[in-house]
Amino acid sequence: MQSGKISFFKMSLFRFAALPSLHRKILIGSVLLFGAAFMLPQNQQLLSQRIPVELDIDALISQSTPTPVINTLLDKPRFEKVIVKGDTLSGLFEQGGVDQQTMYRVLEADLNVLALDTLQPGNEIQFWLDEADKLEKLTLYFSAARQVTYSRFDDGSFNVNEVNIEGIWRNRSVAGEINGSFYLSAQKMGLNAAQIQRVESLLKEKLNFARDLRAGDKFSVLINDQYIDGVATGSSDILGVTIDRGRSSINAYQFTDGNFYDEQGRSLARAFQRIPLQRNYRISSRFNPHRHHPVTGRTSPHNGTDFATPIGTKVIAPGDGIVSLVTDHRFAGKYVVIEHGNKYRTRYLHLSKSLVHKGQRVSRGQVIALSGNTGRITGPHLHYEFHINGRAVDPMKAKIPMANQLSKKQMGAFEQLVRVRKMMMGQV
Ligand SMILES: [Zn+2]
Repeated sequence: MQSGKISFFKMSLFRFAALPSLHRKILIGSVLLFGAAFMLPQNQQLLSQRIPVELDIDALISQSTPTPVINTLLDKPRFEKVIVKGDTLSGLFEQGGVDQQTMYRVLEADLNVLALDTLQPGNEIQFWLDEADKLEKLTLYFSAARQVTYSRFDDGSFNVNEVNIEGIWRNRSVAGEINGSFYLSAQKMGLNAAQIQRVESLLKEKLNFARDLRAGDKFSVLINDQYIDGVATGSSDILGVTIDRGRSSINAYQFTDGNFYDEQGRSLARAFQRIPLQRNYRISSRFNPHRHHPVTGRTSPHNGTDFATPIGTKVIAPGDGIVSLVTDHRFAGKYVVIEHGNKYRTRYLHLSKSLVHKGQRVSRGQVIALSGNTGRITGPHLHYEFHINGRAVDPMKAKIPMANQLSKKQMGAFEQLVRVRKMMMGQV
């Protein structure tokens, strides 16, 4: 038992040392627990800026069962593939030589992160098999910034490890003139579809993009792009927007609370409401990153809040957003995901019925689904998750943008931020 543990430690060290960004900010979601024991001391000062999962290292080391089955260095996956359009999960497992029963065990672990459903063309999947052709490890490579690994325990169940690497964020100012639609003008200057939609949705109550813009009007957008080892990951955030229409101009700046305000400190995006329901229901299970699974005895984080809603209870969008996924999962049941800008995401599990489709815009208060008891569940309830920058937080306690107007004190800090952003956008 002891030797097995030591070699696993070595392997963890090797694998993390192999990551190119150990010197960068490394964020840990549902963590490769033993690996984390190595990483925490080196990255403490960096981790403190976020909300890392706290780990009770002693308890983990003394934990005797179950143990990971990986005892040797697995240098090459047995099968790896870049996802292409048309690939299905069961098809990929089949190609990887993994049976359906094992796939279900992986899906069971996936319940905590729901990463398998988010695979897109261009992402990579890797299967490691042991000498007996049993799946030992499965890795999903989403980007240099995000990987998810499932590793088998000796009892046949799988553990999920999510590694999010923060990298560095750089500002980029994009400016241009309207010539034709805003969409085409912005695209020509290097903004992508998601960024353009974000700008349009931010200013939608201030400006009708189809009607109010004239050729020659000027726009300027301050973008914050994520880089890992000098390569842009595709993740970005918008920090400021100005549209100059000659006599008048429209501005939006993102404040430190994640909300957008105009220059006068008035909130642009409508705030979130705390719960996605029309009235309060009893909470049957709270958000708990350290929850112990009653059967396996392992730490199995509860990444959301469960509301004891009877089947058919209306579920509403807690804020404006775009539906990014409506799907079925063996354990999560029927579920819906909504993106609220780049930073916030919400998830609704075990639904009986979805009332929205992928790509649909929803506004705060809109009924998006009916709660239910689908998936692996002991009784009907709504499991609600709130994510900030890809990380699940306690929906009942997280600091989410709920204020509409900055206080006098906040206003001082905001004015300073606007001055700096304007400078970056070449406007002062
Ligand atoms: Zn739950």
